[in-house]
Amino acid sequence: MIIVLKPNVTDDQVNHVVQRVESLGLTAHLSRGTFRSVIGVIGDESKIAAAPLEAIPCVAKVVPILPAYKLASIEAHAQPSVVEVGNAKIGGEHVALIAGPCAVESAEQMDTIAAAIRAAGATILRGGAFKPRTSPYSFQGLGEDGLKILRETGDRYDMPIVTEVMDPGCVELIEQYTDMFQIGARNMQNFVLLSEVGKTNKPVLLKRGMSATIKDLLMSAEYILSGGNPNVVLCERGVRSFDTETRNLYDVAAIPAIKAKSHLPVIVDPSHATGRPDLIPPCALAGAAAGADGIHIEVHHCPEEAMSDGPQALLPEQYHELAKQVKSIVELLGRKVG
Ligand code: PEP
Ligand code: MN
Repeated sequence: MIIVLKPNVTDDQVNHVVQRVESLGLTAHLSRGTFRSVIGVIGDESKIAAAPLEAIPCVAKVVPILPAYKLASIEAHAQPSVVEVGNAKIGGEHVALIAGPCAVESAEQMDTIAAAIRAAGATILRGGAFKPRTSPYSFQGLGEDGLKILRETGDRYDMPIVTEVMDPGCVELIEQYTDMFQIGARNMQNFVLLSEVGKTNKPVLLKRGMSATIKDLLMSAEYILSGGNPNVVLCERGVRSFDTETRNLYDVAAIPAIKAKSHLPVIVDPSHATGRPDLIPPCALAGAAAGADGIHIEVHHCPEEAMSDGPQALLPEQYHELAKQVKSIVELLGRKVG
């Protein structure tokens, strides 16, 4: 860590900062310039990170050398991590195709959609049983009945399943059914929930919050990793913007930007990012081309009857066509689906 001092500091002021650093059990190396001085700090960075040194009047800024998301950082793990979800893999050379309806509505609905996406080559089945809805009057999900349907459908088609958990009190229940937890955009900074899934060993799909920076996302991942669960997959699903043309603003640059900082797999969700079936295929392909480790798409056989997110659902035949195109791009880049 480097402490940059303000211009024209006195010797007394410099000595005060040096003494503060040494009182924390760290070593201070002063470098006195004509206009500016800096102090290099050697030792356990966590001790100094907790000290509010920027509150000392002569300190201009404190610059950490290592990121605060230690376990999620590329420094912690130079090779890309591969997360296993049942018989599917996400990361490294493996690109996952995650698909399914927004919400689990019935056994028949899940069977129809699972059969279609499985035939198209999807590797993981999704479906919400506990839905985070903007309105309390909207369909909230089937709860445990939905988890049972999702589990049975996944088993019938030999596909691992992913479903959202919103409440720390539901982690234990959902863990009994699912292969992967999803933490949605609205809960990305629900730190109690992050800590709770961090105590399990189940993979976690962590979606980027609507106004979260990449650093915020990585800090949230750190909560899960520091709890002892190494199986975290990040998801770019669009952020809020001033433009109402699309549901959110799809940040495709986030994929390589996160990969430059972290070893964790990164997938994309063009369904929630754009909210428009006409934009989902091109944005999914852009995600695959940008190096995404998975493509997450909502599919429904009858969008006009869907109980949530119908207007953004792809039809099974549209998904089939898209999955083929994604596979071509993935293979072009020397990777494989599955
Ligand atoms: C979802 O996947 O259905 C969902 C609610 O996603 P998000 O949290 O990204 O809005
Ligand atoms: Mn949805």
